[in-house]
Amino acid sequence: MEDLFLYNTLGRKVEKFIPVDKDEVKMYSCGPTVYSYAHIGNFRAYIFSDTLRRVLKYNGYKVNSVMNLTDVGHLTSDADTGEDKMEKAARKEGKDPYEIAKFYTDAFLVDYDRLNLQRPTTITKATDNIPQMIEMVKEIIDNGYAYETSKGIYFDVSKLKQYPVLSNNVIEGQEAGARIEVDPEKRNPQDFAIWIKAPENHIMKWDSPWGVSYPGWHLECSVMGRRFLGEKFDIHTGGVDHIPIHHENEIAQDIGSFGHNPANFWMHVEFLLVDGGKMSKSLGNIYTISELAEKGYEPLAFKLFNYTSSYRIQLNFTFDGLQAAKTALNRLRRGYLAHRDANELIDEDTIKDYELRFNKAINDDLNMPAAMSVVWEIIKNEKKSKQLADLILKFDQVLGLDLENSENYLNEKLEVPQEILDLVEERKNAKANKDYAKADELRDLINSKGYSIKDSAGGEVQIEKI
Ligand code: AMP
Ligand code: ZN
Repeated sequence: MEDLFLYNTLGRKVEKFIPVDKDEVKMYSCGPTVYSYAHIGNFRAYIFSDTLRRVLKYNGYKVNSVMNLTDVGHLTSDADTGEDKMEKAARKEGKDPYEIAKFYTDAFLVDYDRLNLQRPTTITKATDNIPQMIEMVKEIIDNGYAYETSKGIYFDVSKLKQYPVLSNNVIEGQEAGARIEVDPEKRNPQDFAIWIKAPENHIMKWDSPWGVSYPGWHLECSVMGRRFLGEKFDIHTGGVDHIPIHHENEIAQDIGSFGHNPANFWMHVEFLLVDGGKMSKSLGNIYTISELAEKGYEPLAFKLFNYTSSYRIQLNFTFDGLQAAKTALNRLRRGYLAHRDANELIDEDTIKDYELRFNKAINDDLNMPAAMSVVWEIIKNEKKSKQLADLILKFDQVLGLDLENSENYLNEKLEVPQEILDLVEERKNAKANKDYAKADELRDLINSKGYSIKDSAGGEVQIEKI
């Protein structure tokens, strides 16, 4: 295999990947905060870490990967102000925060699996690592990097030789007096809470040398990375929003505790936009993988949609784009089957050339659009051959599109979205009430949504995709 090159936020350049331990790559991915459903933007981040893991394995490495579940301590601002997201959700839903965490973790993993993402070696909850967290806070204090206030234990950034290290010198929105109120107890405006004293009504809290309290979100990831991967590992991933606060603070804590930055590569995925803008509740454009599936877009089509851009640039989600990916995925499946069932001879050089270009693309900082263009060339090759089908399956170790089972997907009964089923039912009622004008209107509406209906003799309605 050719050398693997990855973009490192630390230093802001593409670098040749050399693992710490030549036989096993260790990577840590910041996982979801399980206070609500993960949306398609969040899943762009997990599709990215899955592709990275698959590319590493394709390069012959054994991969030890860890993803955390944040089930306490992530405040409504990513810094150390606001309310704990878990407690806020618990109050809103009238449930226990542990129940909330369990519910949204399960929902997350259902969507994770539907996207055919490989599970990390370890998935660990923050609340399963509390004793290790208390130990690390003690170390940071003992080493002189933290101090106690009435609100908690704060990290003193002025003790570091350099802060921040990943982002540019001035952290946007973090200058003293800018967006955050300056806490008079803090020694420096950029100091942050590593351990938080719990207010009376906070449910998730633990006894500690500093009273009943709970961990800060940044501390959690420092501890879980160290516990499961050690003090030096290869890659740490997250979204670009993690660069200026979460990851800076993780590195600061690690230096304060064991003296160095733990990861050689820090990799960040850019945001997914919807219709050119941010996803927001008020715009009603926050979708989950399951919601897309209900609308008739299978999760793997969303995954393929993600391969239309580099992980390092923003990707604009539209339903037109998703529809195109859905059509492309089925074309890919039919193309694979056409090769699988044929036996024209392809010369070795052609195969080698495809393979070389695919490998080069994925090893060029996961250039998936370039990798996909090689796949399409193979699909479109006029000579149909099992040799090419085998090559596509080999590439699918990276793509994770389950192409081996193409036939099953193509033969699957048409999944009709609930919205269409409801309209069909409404039309049935209109007909029963002899409101034929309404029934015709509903038929037109169903047609306009891309489905045709046929009434059969027995009263059954046949639904087909137009
Ligand atoms: P959270 O559950 O809020 O901690 O976020 C989980 C992951 O999703 C983090 O890695 C975020 O950086 C990432 N993320 C959040 N919103 C988006 C988005 N719109 N596009 C891509 N990644 C996102
Ligand atoms: Zn994290």
